[in-house]
Amino acid sequence: MAGIERVSVRQALDRILAEDVISSINVPPHVNSAMDGYALAGSDLPSSEAKSYRIIDTVLAGVPSSCKVESGTCVRIMTGGMLPAGADTVVMQEEARVEGETLTLQSGHRPGQNVRQAGEDLAIGDVAIPRGKRIGPAELGLATSLGCAELMVRRPLRVAFFSTGDELKSVDTPLGDGEIYDSNRYTLYGMLQRLGINGIDMGVIPDERQAMREAFQTAAAIADVVLTSGGVSVGEADYTKEVLAEVGEVGFWKLAIKPGRPLAVGRIGQAVFFGLPGNPVAVMVAYYQFVQPALRKMLGEKNRFPMRFFVPLKGHIRKRPGRTEFQRGILETDDQGRLCVRPTGAQGSGILRSMSQANCFIVLPHEQGNRADGEMVEVEPFHALS
Ligand code: AMP
Ligand code: MG
Repeated sequence: MAGIERVSVRQALDRILAEDVISSINVPPHVNSAMDGYALAGSDLPSSEAKSYRIIDTVLAGVPSSCKVESGTCVRIMTGGMLPAGADTVVMQEEARVEGETLTLQSGHRPGQNVRQAGEDLAIGDVAIPRGKRIGPAELGLATSLGCAELMVRRPLRVAFFSTGDELKSVDTPLGDGEIYDSNRYTLYGMLQRLGINGIDMGVIPDERQAMREAFQTAAAIADVVLTSGGVSVGEADYTKEVLAEVGEVGFWKLAIKPGRPLAVGRIGQAVFFGLPGNPVAVMVAYYQFVQPALRKMLGEKNRFPMRFFVPLKGHIRKRPGRTEFQRGILETDDQGRLCVRPTGAQGSGILRSMSQANCFIVLPHEQGNRADGEMVEVEPFHALS
């Protein structure tokens, strides 16, 4: 669990609130006008015949009037202006006829109209922002509307990550026979950053037990969470699970999902360990489905899972029962403006372009088989509402 710290409001953006923000004032602080118009007593509104009033003052927002509105009088008032004594109703300017200092109103107005009551948004003592909330632009505004210049937030998690594999090369070196560029560290960097986590990049580790042992232990000593990718399946050079069992403990591994079946989860000392698969799409699926909710939980975030909903499928999907699949889809609107989802095409776990083309996962349950055009399927947008 991350500790807590006090930061200035702007620095709290994208952090997780550690304590409820309680309103110490009424918002709005005083009864005020919701319109530009004329303020008067509701009991003084015309019942059937038109009625005239003497305009005794003008009230601007932030400049209260000391006048008292009595029967037969009114004040001109601007939006946000504080209602003077005796007034509880505002008639909007478009519905008023004014000649000189005289306002004439027709009937049909309602006492209390166009007025914002003190404490209408928030009353003193209300929870304005509950702890566990990720601070967004609305919360920055809400906090400052209450006069909060600082907020208590969770400290960022320390997450160390590295890639494993003898075939992996850094982007700035030429590729030899059988070599590929290490892209998973960049995907992980991006996904962590999006969650507000400045990950600790520990580079590439070769497929050697001793090198992996050392890397695992170093990472576990400096981080709350360790993420690796590759070497977690059942190939000749897949040592992740073995090494994890030696230096820590394996909680579980192998899940009935596609892609991402080889996922090892465990602990090394105080650190939580996730051994992600090597295939680039599998890395992202395993991260979004398992690692991200866990990181959010460790941060004390209330909202941990992205929204899912059902939409009609455009096209068809091939699937065999027996695993939950996370296929890549494009949520779009048809020519009637109705939401639907279209698969991105080839769904291999190494085809990272499918993640780039997609804007959602199509989540297909364990027992389900093929899906036909027009059937309802569940989707999980990559950038969901929260
Ligand atoms: P592994 O689980 O180590 O057998 O890796 C599965 C597949 O993912 C292999 O084709 C690897 O070459 C590939 N792979 C593993 N790590 C990375 C990485 N960091 N970047 C890109 N591809 C990788
Ligand atoms: Mg490997």
